[in-house]
Amino acid sequence: MFEKIYSPVHKLEFALFNNLFVKRDDLIDPYISGNKWRKLKYAIQKLQTEQKSHIVTFGGAYSNHLLATAAAAARLNLKSTAFVRGEAVKNEILMLCTLYGMKLIFTDRESYKNKIELYKTHFGNDKAAYFIDEGGASAEAISGCAEIINELPLAYDHIFCAVGTGTTAAGLLKGIQQNNLETKLHMIPVLKGGLFIKDEIAKYVSISEHLILHTDYHFGGYAKTTPELTGFMKTFIAKTGLLIDPVYTAKMFYSIVDLEQKGIIKKEDKILAIHTGGLLGILGMKEKLE
Ligand SMILES: *Cc1c(COP(=O)(O)O)cnc(C)c1O
Repeated sequence: MFEKIYSPVHKLEFALFNNLFVKRDDLIDPYISGNKWRKLKYAIQKLQTEQKSHIVTFGGAYSNHLLATAAAAARLNLKSTAFVRGEAVKNEILMLCTLYGMKLIFTDRESYKNKIELYKTHFGNDKAAYFIDEGGASAEAISGCAEIINELPLAYDHIFCAVGTGTTAAGLLKGIQQNNLETKLHMIPVLKGGLFIKDEIAKYVSISEHLILHTDYHFGGYAKTTPELTGFMKTFIAKTGLLIDPVYTAKMFYSIVDLEQKGIIKKEDKILAIHTGGLLGILGMKEKLE
């Protein structure tokens, strides 16, 4: 399943950019979407090498990672369990997870903080169990994301990536370094106080001058939006025909336009936006998008 990949690079006609491209990782799979597919690839390979058959993982109630894990597990005939942060709720994502056979354990926010402890308490005796962290963060995930760079058809001046845990960005940075590229990697944290991301990345990859962190595009914090962002998103989707979501990719595309207006990047620069997928996240924001 992880051999087959469909992730072309498409040119985008938007806001007078001459060389704006998008890496369509959203097309890899509708449910094992975007960077979540990249992150699971080697984690699941490791699980199989260790002859485990039960993925135990963690996420919020609208987690793209939970859905990706549930779908991947079902296709590979693995068992999956997720600790879901917060009180029991129902929504479209969790419904799909359940259809894929994932077992959900709703966990209060306090207990959720100690994931290793939760894992040990519930599955310490389960010989088949395999721990995958929230969002799929791991060294294996970074190797998977680094492969994005190997697939690129040309050298770009700038690559843009929406950032949650920083794992995908760490992989991209690794790929850029391994391929000896001069490309700048612009990271757009979608949460408030994104300065910590550099330390997260430094745990896995040496920080180099390729890396540029923009911490002002969170629009109030994780899963927060403003009318400005949703307005931008609606225009973008209608003009390009490319679907983006308010939690991650809309913030990234907004930053590209804003940085051009500020003169930090140029219209004629070769720019690549990574579409990290996660489009079902739109369902968590229905009211704000009407
Ligand atoms: C999870 C996710 C991210 C964040 O990836 P990290 O590796 O945690 O930084 C970005 N975009 C989308 C669409 C996601 O689902």
